[in-house]
Amino acid sequence: MTVFGQGCPHHCHGCHNPATWNSEGGYTTTTEEILEQYKNNPLLDGMTFSGGEPFMQPMMFFELAKEVHRMGGDIWCYTGYTLEELLGYTYGPHRMLLEHVDVLVDGEYKEELRNLTLQFRGSSNQRIWERHGDMWLPWNRDKEGVA
Ligand code: SF4
Repeated sequence: MTVFGQGCPHHCHGCHNPATWNSEGGYTTTTEEILEQYKNNPLLDGMTFSGGEPFMQPMMFFELAKEVHRMGGDIWCYTGYTLEELLGYTYGPHRMLLEHVDVLVDGEYKEELRNLTLQFRGSSNQRIWERHGDMWLPWNRDKEGVA
């Protein structure tokens, strides 16, 4: 299940979803409503946060991630920030959300580095990270259960 956050400060040239840039756009929902949809679909085993920029609404996504983890699901998160930028933030909710992400796809989309052969990302500067406790390692694409 993918949840798209509304609002994005990155404004990447060639963005796949510019309708999400304006933080006044989209529609309002609640974490409870999203989780209800998640719980009602037994085929789901995780949630993907995309956007927009999920880190513009860190508390909302943190609440979702915490609950999905409690139910045994995994969290993937797309962000226009780099992992290094996020690790440098001292703002509590950013750290709380990051600590509940299992796989992070980071970095702005760069049209000049567009590569259609890449898995799960659009440009070659973007990286996929996997959290191991407090450590972030490059994503192991051979990991069982991940395509
Ligand atoms: S970070 Fe993602 S949603 Fe935001 S402008 Fe870049 S490609 Fe679009």
